[in-house]
Amino acid sequence: MTKTQLTWAVIIVAALLVGVVGCNGRTANGGEHSSSRHDAQADAGGDKYNGTKGGVDMGDKIVKTDDEWRALLTAEQYRVTRQGGTEPPFSGRFNEFKGAGTFVCVCCRNELFESDTKYDSGSGWPSFWAPVSEEDIKKISDTSHGMIRVEVRCARCDAHLGHVFEDGPRPTGLRYCINSAALDFVGEAQKKQDE
Ligand SMILES: [Zn+2]
Repeated sequence: MTKTQLTWAVIIVAALLVGVVGCNGRTANGGEHSSSRHDAQADAGGDKYNGTKGGVDMGDKIVKTDDEWRALLTAEQYRVTRQGGTEPPFSGRFNEFKGAGTFVCVCCRNELFESDTKYDSGSGWPSFWAPVSEEDIKKISDTSHGMIRVEVRCARCDAHLGHVFEDGPRPTGLRYCINSAALDFVGEAQKKQDE
């Protein structure tokens, strides 16, 4: 009898311990995960990087006053990016440009388009069939000038870049019609030096 009782006691204690540990484990994990956003979870094992990495992705927006932008940009860059202007067709420095590298936002250096998605649309503006990533740009419905268009802006600093149309080449069928004045270029060689 004593042996059986002892055995049961051990089993019960063991079960309680497992239960307690299990609960603690679940509570701790559940608490962390429910308080963090869904995509943070997808960032497998990202908890330990939250202090640095998480902040870069979410808090990466660049906000400057009008005067600060004016001081940083040329008059044409300012008119296009901060006032939603459009450069005259066939006037921009990147319209016929064929260098290999990455086109970045002239305001904040956000990487926007790769040269291998650039093509000659004949429109007079640099044209791309895809951005580096959908997260780097934002699209806004634009009904100005009696047209229904989709405006493209830099997701990081809100610079006006141009418009996107659905008459582009494969594989996307999209034409990102972008002002040269909104772009700067980092060539492959330059990129390697920076790394
Ligand atoms: Zn930008």
